[in-house]
Amino acid sequence: MARTAPSGKTDVVIEPPRFDRPEVEIRASVRRKKTGTAHWSGSRIVVQIPARLRGRERRVFVDDLVTRLLNQRPQNAAGDASLEERAAVLAELYNDGVMAASVRWVSNQRTRWASCSPASKEIRVSSRLRQCPEWVIDAVLVHELAHLQEADHSPAFYEIAHRHPRQGESALYLEGFALGLGLRIEEGDVDVNGTASATVD
Ligand SMILES: [Zn+2]
Repeated sequence: MARTAPSGKTDVVIEPPRFDRPEVEIRASVRRKKTGTAHWSGSRIVVQIPARLRGRERRVFVDDLVTRLLNQRPQNAAGDASLEERAAVLAELYNDGVMAASVRWVSNQRTRWASCSPASKEIRVSSRLRQCPEWVIDAVLVHELAHLQEADHSPAFYEIAHRHPRQGESALYLEGFALGLGLRIEEGDVDVNGTASATVD
């Protein structure tokens, strides 16, 4: 996976995309002493770091640069506020105007794309979905919003969830996404009484 640039001064390593971030190109230069930079190159993030960094120190340095750049993306910087705004629009369109009390990105959901607590009307969306197209995020939001009306995956629930025209397509997309990432996504996404179930890690 690693290759060395012809100059011999910069080592380049390409890290494949992970659940919560795109492909990352790490360029380690002997001319860099302390500082690092990160920028987008298409859908890839390129980070430049001092070559002297090794092991864990290097990992932390790279992760920090990548995280900071990801947080600068408009849809990420706007964060929960824009997610909540989008959910409100979708609730009007598809969920009979039934709104969530809060909608936020979370990074600690590893076996679910999103979850809903009907009692407290809270919706949480896995931050790994930030990499997905907007229509997929919309479909996921509509699914969770529908749980505010119907907690179970009943026919009545699907009548609401499938008002989003790309719900089926979204499910297929996410199946492939999970497969590509080697994830096992569980069926349950409703938390009773607002408490996380035992299956959440
Ligand atoms: Zn569900």
